[in-house]
Amino acid sequence: MAIIVQKFGGTSVADAEKIRRATERVIDAVKKGYHVVVVASARGKQTDQLVADALELNPDPPKREMDQLLSTGEQQSVSLFAMALDAAGYAAISLTGGQIRMLTDSAHTKARIISVDADRIHKQLEKGKIVIIAGFQGINEEEDITTLGRGGSDTTAVALAAVLGAEQCEIYTDVDGVYTTDPRIYPNAAKMQQISYDEMLELASLGAGVMHSRAIEFGKKYDVKIHVRSSSEETEGTIITHEVPQMEGVVVSGATIQKDLAKLSLVGVGNKPGNAARVFAQMANAKVVVNDIMQTEVSPDKANLSFTISASDLKAAREAVEKIGKDIECDSVFIRDDIAEVSVVGVGMRNHYGVAEAMFTALAKAQVNIDSITTSEIRISCIVDEDQAEKALKAVCDAFELDRPARHRAK
Ligand code: ADP
Ligand code: ASP
Ligand code: MG
Repeated sequence: MAIIVQKFGGTSVADAEKIRRATERVIDAVKKGYHVVVVASARGKQTDQLVADALELNPDPPKREMDQLLSTGEQQSVSLFAMALDAAGYAAISLTGGQIRMLTDSAHTKARIISVDADRIHKQLEKGKIVIIAGFQGINEEEDITTLGRGGSDTTAVALAAVLGAEQCEIYTDVDGVYTTDPRIYPNAAKMQQISYDEMLELASLGAGVMHSRAIEFGKKYDVKIHVRSSSEETEGTIITHEVPQMEGVVVSGATIQKDLAKLSLVGVGNKPGNAARVFAQMANAKVVVNDIMQTEVSPDKANLSFTISASDLKAAREAVEKIGKDIECDSVFIRDDIAEVSVVGVGMRNHYGVAEAMFTALAKAQVNIDSITTSEIRISCIVDEDQAEKALKAVCDAFELDRPARHRAK
């Protein structure tokens, strides 16, 4: 019997009525003959509330304790979900990350999955049960609870779909698919019927909160068909899949905004072999994930090195830089945490010229100053002042006509 994984996000399990509605999706799939594995997130804004509770007691809570706390949100959802299915006459069992041996590394609050033991899930499915798994959590080798980073239930779902060989992984959420940009910020954004893993990975890594970026990495690596769709309407959503030739015709498929960033600039670093390696070895030691790196030689013996990180890693990154400042002969460190990044993404950029010019012109017309620019083969990103970021995103979306489906754009 084919397996389907259905993931329900926080808003889709926020209250009893929503859980009941979600169980209807599950029961539909059972009636179609599927073995169903459900992954559920914490209810509504519960994870935010737990974070706030922690910060009220400790401005810098130990990360291990944070994971211990945050994982409780998902544990509540899954048992309630199983109870709702039981009430509807369907046998179900809820399991935590630990109970399915979702083994991760020990990077608390942003752990990465190493392996999953699918046996227990298969056994329960064989018994005819619907299996409800707590998203976002795992255990490390010491059996301590870990979490996968905010939004990480998507990754639990896609990883399980990969391990179980599921036919599809459905992501039920509060939007009916992936849009050209966040519809909450740009209400005219257009829904996409499909999007390639590479584009979705860039969008997700650059702030498109609709999917956790690690989920897309798993999807691409293990060939999982991902369907992002609405939990309240029965419409088709967006399929995330391998690139097909017509996708190349679309120059810019989406735009993102990423806030909560910080940029560290190491000014006047000794221009000699090994210094960049020293800086990023320290970052890795401190478990700081580095986004974009920019280095320029400014004289024969000095270079400037800048990089962006998530604002939540700023304290760890600053301490790491302080440790090695002298070794790398750094003159001064300049830090900004009032920035945001606006990006455009599209596989079609590989074969088109003029995209950078169109983006910079749009920002100039909107009177937005660009702090720095980074690019990859399929994206262009500009760091701007945080208080100008939404204006910048709107200007870019207008310039690339992201208010309409790709086939209706002039360019
Ligand atoms: P869930 O709790 O179901 O995981 P999330 O809040 O994590 O839901 O993700 C859904 C939200 O992602 C949407 O409400 C939307 O505001 C936001 N979002 C950001 N970028 C996009 C995009 N490109 N397309 C659709 N939604 C987006
Ligand atoms: N509950 C977690 C969060 O709010 C995980 C998730 O929703 O995917 O980030
Ligand atoms: Mg989410």
